[in-house]
Amino acid sequence: MRKSLMLLTAVTVVATPALAQLNTLRQNDVAEAAKNNPSIVAEYGGAETGARAAYVNNIGRRVAGQSGTANAGQAYHFTTLNSPVENAFSVPGGYVYITRQLMGLMGDEAELAFVLGHETGHIAADHSRTRQKASSRNSILSVLGAIVGGVIGNNPFGSLISQGLQRYGQLSTLSFSRQQEYEADQLGIRYIAQAGYDPTAGATMLDALTRSAALEARVQGKAGRSTPEWASTHPLSENRSAQARQLAAQFARAGGGMRNRDAFLAQLNGVRVDDDPAQGIVEGQTFTHPDLRLQFIIPAGFQMSNSADAVTIEGSSGKAQFSTGRYDGNMQAYVAQVLQGLTGGQTQIQMSPIQQTRVNGIPAVYSIGRAQTDNGVVDVSVFAYQWSATQAYHFVMLTQGGQGIAPFQSMVGSLRRITPAEAAAIRPRVINVYSVRAGDSVQSLAKRMAYRDFQIDRFLSLNNLQANSRLSPGTRVKLVTYELRR
Ligand SMILES: [Zn+2]
Repeated sequence: MRKSLMLLTAVTVVATPALAQLNTLRQNDVAEAAKNNPSIVAEYGGAETGARAAYVNNIGRRVAGQSGTANAGQAYHFTTLNSPVENAFSVPGGYVYITRQLMGLMGDEAELAFVLGHETGHIAADHSRTRQKASSRNSILSVLGAIVGGVIGNNPFGSLISQGLQRYGQLSTLSFSRQQEYEADQLGIRYIAQAGYDPTAGATMLDALTRSAALEARVQGKAGRSTPEWASTHPLSENRSAQARQLAAQFARAGGGMRNRDAFLAQLNGVRVDDDPAQGIVEGQTFTHPDLRLQFIIPAGFQMSNSADAVTIEGSSGKAQFSTGRYDGNMQAYVAQVLQGLTGGQTQIQMSPIQQTRVNGIPAVYSIGRAQTDNGVVDVSVFAYQWSATQAYHFVMLTQGGQGIAPFQSMVGSLRRITPAEAAAIRPRVINVYSVRAGDSVQSLAKRMAYRDFQIDRFLSLNNLQANSRLSPGTRVKLVTYELRR
């Protein structure tokens, strides 16, 4: 056993060019990552705990043990985030994050190991150093382009939202170069092969992501929802998957090795998918928060993404965020505080006098401001709702100079209170691992998918099946079903 593993390692070194990897993580990176970890976890809806989180951490450490980093078992940390966004990312200093939503796409432990290995590879190969250089190059994009694209650089408006809300967008929205992605795939595949897994899991995982991104694009055409994060930060292509297949073929274990599907599915069963109702639900163009009892509708052509403390709305004519802040009964002070939070007091914005209005019976105030930037004029608007004696909510909107609130007029007018019955009707979705019985078909099982649309497509994509696939009894498949709220 040991001998063949050694041989495999030797073969690897010959077959793939040696990639420079850190022997030890930098002390200042480690300190920085440890300091930022609580905010990142909070931003992404909190960390999962319990058996599933421990399982992910175990697999991560097993894979990271192949990275060559000194004391890898202690140096790397693997956190499962309660986020509806399909994403995995890493922070220099040894912190790797994976969302429950991305886990839902996976078919077995080897695919999980690959994702964790890929992210560990970014850290071990020190990719973030060059990534930061790439980000400052991006900042020469036009102001609106920068805002809409969510690019965060030196541009004062690119950084508005990130500064104000303490986002960690930079970590998740900056792209690695194609070459770095290839290297991380290469390292991830090498790590999992050396840890005893089937190295073709890299290719099958990338296939699952490609299927999900393609399905999402089709659903979006109808409903509108942001592109899966992994797809935007880790450029996906048929090409990347084909390369991963070639990389795997260099290992003797290709097509063999552990997949550990049963162990993985046992952990995956019951994992929540899509939004956590406790953080609000995105359904097409509608955002509903059952606990806060509120709902609003974004304009057609815009997309929405939800995080623990804000909803971000983006489209070609502007960007907006819905959030809340401290409110002590004074709406003037509330708006001032929102602006202060947005700019950190560093950018001068000329605001119009505050106007009062009512929206669906709710008292509201708004103010439109204008700011001059090197690349043109941008309108910054705040629309705030006096929800109760102790609670206020607001939209912040960034639009092209002269447009004011116009692109978001229907949205600010749509905020309303929902009834207890409407709130109770909102149910979370979970992965339900199901053992196929005689008589089940793709069509009959797809009917159990807890979605109003694309039931068959979603079922096929989730399970890597074709419409004419025969399901043999005893095979385990993933369904997405509603969970009753406790
Ligand atoms: Zn990557």
